[in-house]
Amino acid sequence: MNIILLGAPGAGKGTQARRLEEEYGLIQISTGDMLRASIKKGEPLGLEAKQLMDKGTLVPDSLIVRMIEERIAEPDCAKGFILDGFPRTVAQAEALDAMLAARGMKLDAVIELVVDEDKLVERVSGRFTCAKCGEGYHDSFKTPQKAGVCDSCGSSEFTRRADDNAETMKARLQAFHDQTAPILPYYETKGALKSIDGMADMDAVYDELVQLLGL
Ligand code: ADP
Ligand code: AMP
Repeated sequence: MNIILLGAPGAGKGTQARRLEEEYGLIQISTGDMLRASIKKGEPLGLEAKQLMDKGTLVPDSLIVRMIEERIAEPDCAKGFILDGFPRTVAQAEALDAMLAARGMKLDAVIELVVDEDKLVERVSGRFTCAKCGEGYHDSFKTPQKAGVCDSCGSSEFTRRADDNAETMKARLQAFHDQTAPILPYYETKGALKSIDGMADMDAVYDELVQLLGL
């Protein structure tokens, strides 16, 4: 099963994708995570992307499309994948259709997580992640069971994203409205789009997602 999770920054895409990966073996493909990994390694691609990410603007379609094309060609993706943070423009959605068709692959569902804007800001402002395994947390909505220790891997190192601040979030929300929201009608006209109330708690969102996907 190949799925797209759509939604503004902080809507809960990564949280839900990780859980679907854990429970159903679907591969989470997060373009944001891939770019951050590339920055960490000091790769030219990462360096080019970093300046744009720090400002909260999108990186060029050509760069992202190439990255996805290479990723979905890897053998593990045959198990099915969840696209998280891609596509983010109509051009990326069109490129995705073309690359899936060329590989004889298809999309099974496009699901939008709908969350109010003030809640999005609250979510990204409190977001932190285990530096070792990537498990996601939130200062108010999901703290580690033992303070300072990751529930998943026991590490005590956590990171916060440089772009998870109120100022950069303004630009990221603008990019979502201007460049990403137009892909909603793109999938709607294909009859592929379904929406979920992303304001509910994580378990409730997950249950609805599983039901919608028929898993
Ligand atoms: P996205 O991948 O869409 O940017 P995340 O999954 O990283 O969003 O979620 C953003 C923040 O909000 C994280 O700190 C996460 O723990 C928290 N979060 C995610 N879903 C919910 C939810 N349904 N209710 C409350 N907090 C949530
Ligand atoms: P995310 O982790 O999904 O919130 O993405 C963080 C940042 O990475 C975004 O603000 C963009 O600068 C960049 N990015 C991630 N995915 C894409 C994409 N599909 N297209 C363009 N830029 C992206």
